[in-house]
Amino acid sequence: MKKSPAARCIFLLLILQPLLLVSVQSLDVCIIGSGIGGASVAHFLRHYSTIPLSIKLFERNAVVGGRMATVTIAGDTFEAGASILHPKNYYALNFTNSLQLSINQPSSSQDDDLASSFGIWDGHKFLFKTIKSGSKSWIMQRIIAYANTAIVFFRYGFSLLRMDAFVESTVNKFLKYYESLESRPVFSTVEEMLQWSGLYNLTARSLEDELTDAGLSSLLIRELVTVITRINYGQSVKMSGLAGAVSLAGSGGGLWSVAGGNKQMAAGLINRSDVDLHLLENIKSISNLGNYYELNSTGGNSYACDVTVVATPLDEVAIEFSPPVVVAERKLQHTYTTFVRGILNPAFFGLSSASDIPDLVGTVEDPNIPFSSISVLKEYDDRDKTFKIFSRAPMQDALLDDLFSERTDTIHIDWAAYPQYHPPEKFSKFVLDDKHLYYANAFESGASTMETSAVSGENIARLILSRLSGETMDRESILKNSIYDGKVQGSKHSDL
Ligand SMILES: Cc1cc2nc3c(=O)[nH]c(=O)nc-3n(C[C@H](O)[C@H](O)[C@H](O)COP(=O)(O)OP(=O)(O)OC[C@H]3O[C@@H](n4cnc5c(N)ncnc54)[C@H](O)[C@@H]3O)c2cc1C
Repeated sequence: MKKSPAARCIFLLLILQPLLLVSVQSLDVCIIGSGIGGASVAHFLRHYSTIPLSIKLFERNAVVGGRMATVTIAGDTFEAGASILHPKNYYALNFTNSLQLSINQPSSSQDDDLASSFGIWDGHKFLFKTIKSGSKSWIMQRIIAYANTAIVFFRYGFSLLRMDAFVESTVNKFLKYYESLESRPVFSTVEEMLQWSGLYNLTARSLEDELTDAGLSSLLIRELVTVITRINYGQSVKMSGLAGAVSLAGSGGGLWSVAGGNKQMAAGLINRSDVDLHLLENIKSISNLGNYYELNSTGGNSYACDVTVVATPLDEVAIEFSPPVVVAERKLQHTYTTFVRGILNPAFFGLSSASDIPDLVGTVEDPNIPFSSISVLKEYDDRDKTFKIFSRAPMQDALLDDLFSERTDTIHIDWAAYPQYHPPEKFSKFVLDDKHLYYANAFESGASTMETSAVSGENIARLILSRLSGETMDRESILKNSIYDGKVQGSKHSDL
C-alpha cells in the first residue's frame, strides 16, 4: 500500500505549491481512533477541504465510538461511558440534528429529576438529603421540587448563585469556539487556543482556589462541588479549574443525550464522511519515512499516509513513533463503572428501608468511602432497579454483597477515563513533529468531554488544511472559507 515515488513527488509539490492543488489526485489522511474526536476530524476535513482527500480511519476495537459506548444489562441498554451533553454543546447538537438522530429530551429528564432524590454520604451518615417524591402527580412532584430547592438553598445560601455565575462565565468563553471562520483563528497550539478564548488561566489553578476567589463557601466546595467533580471526573476539587468548571457545567439543567446511544454521533459522521474504516486494526507504529508516514498495525498491515492524526490519548497506548515524539507527561484517571441490577441494602447506610436511600448518592472526599457515586438508572419496581456505580478502585464482590441485599446482574467496566488534572497543566503539541503528524487529544489536558473532542477535531482539520497551504502563501487556499457560518444563535448553529 506504499505510494509510488511519483505520488510522493506530487505530495511534495502539494506542500510547496498550493496553487497546483487542483491537479493533485488525492491526499491520503490517516486517522487513528474512531471516537468523537477522530470522527470530527474526518467530518470537518470533508467539509472544509477544497481538494480531494482519501481518509482512512483506524480503530482497534470492533465498534466505533471509543469512550462513547453502551452496555446492556438485563435487556436494557445504558450509556457506559460519556452520557450527558450540555445544552450549549453546539457541535454535538448539530451532529445529532443533521444525522437525524433523536434526543432524549431535556424536558423529560427534568421530569425525572422532579421525581428523584439526592443525598451526600460521608461514609457514616447522610450529611444532607432532598425529599423523595413518591407521588405520581406532577403537581406534587413540582411542590416537592420547590421544597428541595429551598432545602439546598438553606444549606448553601448565596454561594450557589456565585457557583452558577462562575460556570456561566466559563461556558460563555467556550462559546467563542463557535464563532465564524473569519473571526476565529486556526490554532497551532493548545495554549494559543485556550488563551484566545480566555480559558487558559483556569488550567493553571485548582478549582478549589478559583471557587474560593469567586466567593463560594468552603461548605459548598467541600460538599456539593466535591460530589460533582467526583461523579464527573473521579477527582477532588484540587483538580484544575477548567476541567472542574466543565464538570460543574455538566451538573446543571437541560442536559441531554442521543436516544439509543451517543456513539451514534461518531458512527454517523464516519458513515457520512466517505471514510475507509478499518475496524480491529490496532496501529502499533508510526514512522516518518521522509515525505510520508508509514503506519503498521499489530495485524501485520502497512499503510502510507501523507497526513496522520492521532485521535486518542497517547498516555496508555503503545504506539511507537519513529523518530520519537515528545508529549507532555500525563496520567489517566481510571474510573470503574459498575452496573448492578438488584436492590440496595439500607443497613449499609444505617437506614431501615431501601426506599429511604436517595436515587443519587454522592460522596465527599474520604479515602475510606469505596465509591464516588451510586445512582438509579432504571426502576422496574420498588425492589428491582438498575444502578450505576462510579469508583476509583474496582468494586469487589464482598463490597457489592454488603452494598446490595439482592443482586441479579453485575457488569464491571474499567475505563482509562480522562486525564488526572493537576494545575498548572502542561500541554502536548497539536503538531507532534512540525510536519504532518497531529495530536487531537492534546486539548484533553484542558478538559475531557465529547464536545471538547469535537472542538479540537474541528481545529485540527483546519490546521491540517492551512498548514498544507503553506504559512507564507495563500493560507486558506485549500480551506473553504465561505461554507461555515458558525455564528451561535441560540441553539441554532446550522451549516456544519
Ligand atoms: C465513564 C466516563 C464518563 C464520561 N462522561 C462524560 C459525559 O457525561 N459527557 C461528556 O461529554 N464526556 C464524558 N466523558 C468523556 C468523553 O467520553 C471523552 O472526552 C470523549 O468521548 C473522548 O473522545 P475521543 O474521540 O477524543 O477519544 P476516545 O473516545 O477515547 O477515542 C479514541 C479511540 O481510539 C482507539 N484507539 C486507541 N489506540 C488505538 C490504536 N493504537 N489503533 C487504533 N485505534 C486506537 C480507541 O479504541 C478509541 O475508540 C466520560 C468518559 C468516561 C470514561
